[in-house]
Amino acid sequence: MIATAEAAHSPGRGIQSSVLALNRFYTAIHVVSVRRAFCLLAKQMAEVIEVEDGAWVTYDFDGWIQGSKDRWAAFSAGEASFPIEPDDWIQSVNFPVLVPRILRLLNFDRVPRNAVRFSRRNVFLRDENRCQYCRRVFNAHQLSLDHVIPRSRGGTTAWDNIVTACRRCNTRKGGRTPSEAGMALHQAPFRPARNPVLSYQLTSAKYASWRIFLQ
Ligand SMILES: [Zn+2]
Repeated sequence: MIATAEAAHSPGRGIQSSVLALNRFYTAIHVVSVRRAFCLLAKQMAEVIEVEDGAWVTYDFDGWIQGSKDRWAAFSAGEASFPIEPDDWIQSVNFPVLVPRILRLLNFDRVPRNAVRFSRRNVFLRDENRCQYCRRVFNAHQLSLDHVIPRSRGGTTAWDNIVTACRRCNTRKGGRTPSEAGMALHQAPFRPARNPVLSYQLTSAKYASWRIFLQ
């Protein structure tokens, strides 16, 4: 096996990826893990959609596995004409399998909920893990939720009153409003129009193929 193939051959990297799930009508519904994606594929509950030059092709599970084998063989022989990244693959028992970027759920008719679910994770994503007071970026476990108008003053636990704050800023602000504490907000909190997971992934080149389903 050639050196570049060796580099791409890093089992587990691809498992970290995200897969966009569409409903039967090609409307983006949510994001699933690679594990979940292969589970749905193997049960014939989904097909892979691959986007190339703005058009797409579909594969069932067997077709996708065979395609992965063919591409891996071409890649290993140095004949690959497609870009290949380590995190495009996961290791199966005998050979690497290409990670799909988009799935279509064949039996799923529902349309996405308009309202984005209010959750701790989604607030962090909306704010891109950035403390809205000191403007620094932290790991999720170092962050907390802050009521801009404190609860004791009738502030609600809702999109437009909750921001991401690091622990230090949260403690410093205490039960005060931003102006009382002399702490300016990076941006006013808002209800996101689309799932923040999607918005976040859309900024990455890796998930460029999602864009045609999320216009
Ligand atoms: Zn802070």
